[in-house]
Amino acid sequence: MVWSESVPRFWRERARKYRLVGGRCRKCNSIVYPHRSVCPHCGAENMEPIELPRRGKVVTFSVVRHPPRGFEGKEPFLVAVIELENGARVLSQLVDVHPEDVKEGMEVVAVFRRYREQAPNGIIEYGIKFRPLK
Ligand SMILES: [Zn+2]
Repeated sequence: MVWSESVPRFWRERARKYRLVGGRCRKCNSIVYPHRSVCPHCGAENMEPIELPRRGKVVTFSVVRHPPRGFEGKEPFLVAVIELENGARVLSQLVDVHPEDVKEGMEVVAVFRRYREQAPNGIIEYGIKFRPLK
């Protein structure tokens, strides 16, 4: 039956998109996000992908008013350093919150959101952002 098969697959795919995949250096044990092939700390090309916890806390944040190329028109937006539950730190956009309501130590969770829409072919990029837990 189509219904019983397609619904679980939808949720499986949705769950996979929500996964936060970083990299762990087998040499110095550093954890980076997103995953890359060369360790930014020791230069070793010995990274393995690891799944990171989706919850964390805001360590520090700033309001971006002069965005990098490709993100024009989205300003101002919030970027934060987030310490995940395993201690790894990631740099990510913060959404669903006003800048004046962001506090250091605030609990946040990863969500899957639109990054940007590329003209003229209209390809929309999605990725991980963080929003307040409550
Ligand atoms: Zn390393």
